[in-house]
Amino acid sequence: MTVLPLDYRVRTRIADVSTKIASADIQTFSSSELQVLIGTARQLGVKVAAHAQKWRTELLPENGGVDTLEHGNDFGPGDAVIDAVKLSRIIWVPTLSVFYTSDTERAPGGRWDRTANNFCRALAKGVTNIACGGDTGPFPHGDNALEMKLMVRLGADWGQVLRWATLGGWQCVRSAAWEGVEGSARLGKIADLQEAARAVGDNEVPFGVIARGFAADIVATRGDLENSFESAVDKSNITFVMKGAKVFKRDGRELV
Ligand SMILES: [Zn+2]
Repeated sequence: MTVLPLDYRVRTRIADVSTKIASADIQTFSSSELQVLIGTARQLGVKVAAHAQKWRTELLPENGGVDTLEHGNDFGPGDAVIDAVKLSRIIWVPTLSVFYTSDTERAPGGRWDRTANNFCRALAKGVTNIACGGDTGPFPHGDNALEMKLMVRLGADWGQVLRWATLGGWQCVRSAAWEGVEGSARLGKIADLQEAARAVGDNEVPFGVIARGFAADIVATRGDLENSFESAVDKSNITFVMKGAKVFKRDGRELV
């Protein structure tokens, strides 16, 4: 679900009509529309993802807002919003790769510089409710590891980044049935659940952890994650990929 403000791809199209309108931050749904959207999703027990450049505390789930926020590369002045995000159960998907790729100059004060600074501020304040997501398209599908590389380059712990890139993904898309007290109880018996994906939906099959009850997803690298992270997660060093028990890459060769 796309909410506010304008995604840059939408901006690009609007820019054909008016560059002034395209460069403005516009709330694309009214607050009352958002309330209905979010309320309906809550009723159905599904998550709400928002596309937004600027953080506002109304976007946090504790304030009736959304569950995940993609982009969010502007916390505004001061630490108040960052502190609120840190304490919130929202998951932030910073999409660093989009800003890195789309800003080819990467000059001080430019789009990438501001995005990187924003991310570093959050890291310094101890924000860990993060997931890796690409908003892939501005950069090629298959280069998604760039997101992890950039996070580590900006100072994030590599082990933490792997968690954001694996379990974090499932935490973003799973339904409310995995949250709270009831969700914890369901997680507790995950090894014995044996729910059919067709019945519960793909997002209800846990992934991101190698354990009984989780989807059989494994990525193997010949690299050294601890000492040479960027090389280790680069696709040139990925030797094996299995998703949902189906092997897509073996001995470094793609099978599909
Ligand atoms: Zn976007």
